[in-house]
Amino acid sequence: MRLKDKVAIVTGSASGIGKAIAHTYATEGAKVVIADLDMNQAEATAKAFRDSGLEAMAVAMDVTNEQQVNTGIDKVIQAYDYIDILVSNAGIQHISPIDELQLADWKRMLAIHLDGAFLTTKACLRYMYQRGKGGSIIYMGSVHSKEASVLKAPYVTAKHGLVGLCKTVAKEGIKHGVRANVICPGFVRTPLVAKQIPEQAKDLGISEEDVVKKVMLKDTIDGEFTTVEDVAQIALLFASFDSNALTGQSLLVSHGWFMQ
Ligand code: NAD
Repeated sequence: MRLKDKVAIVTGSASGIGKAIAHTYATEGAKVVIADLDMNQAEATAKAFRDSGLEAMAVAMDVTNEQQVNTGIDKVIQAYDYIDILVSNAGIQHISPIDELQLADWKRMLAIHLDGAFLTTKACLRYMYQRGKGGSIIYMGSVHSKEASVLKAPYVTAKHGLVGLCKTVAKEGIKHGVRANVICPGFVRTPLVAKQIPEQAKDLGISEEDVVKKVMLKDTIDGEFTTVEDVAQIALLFASFDSNALTGQSLLVSHGWFMQ
């Protein structure tokens, strides 16, 4: 097992990509924390993991709220004593052309993606540094950390911003053995993407089928969605890598949508 007895917090893991990462980590021996805004779903996910013999707890947390983040991380320490891995994954999407985008929606998007990453990083680093046994911080970026698409200005801006945060955490953290990396998935068919398909069809004046084929998967090499399992395998690589060689990086997993 590649993560035996490691404690891993995954934000936004009641659903979608985060849930798959938490499941992969738990299967590899980690004690996983399902940290989510949706506490009912977080509890249900943690219980399902425990029922199948895995170690998991749920923690309620709005990642944009400093007090809730700190209280949640303190609960993890009370239960498990230490933290080895943070996956800052919670996120949402908002579709709008820039000339119609409301300031409140712009701020909400930056708060969830960037404030959330900062607050959870800060809270976890405190315990990682104190313990002195290193750690791995993983940010959920996107192809939109490297590339832009129409109608997604705050998302693209925030996902690019995570690369800067990651590089800074990598430089500051290394004297404590803390590594930081970004995963950049292409489109993954989760609730976040399912919601966008009719929204984009309406905004672009095309069918939902064309949103999938001609917008979302247009530039992939094989017309395929990336899966939650694909992303979880990259999260496992970043979490389990056992030297400081792999830090400050962002890795695309997107069926070749974006190549660098
Ligand atoms: P999802 O909607 O399935 O899951 C997101 C989870 O985050 C939900 O459980 C939700 O309750 C939680 N959440 C939302 N706001 C929160 C907050 N303020 N505090 C705590 N939890 C909150 O979405 P997903 O597709 O699994 O997305 C997860 C991450 O992956 C996001 O950061 C997203 O930007 C990124 N991503 C998704 C795709 C994709 O195609 N699905 C591609 C690239 C990157």
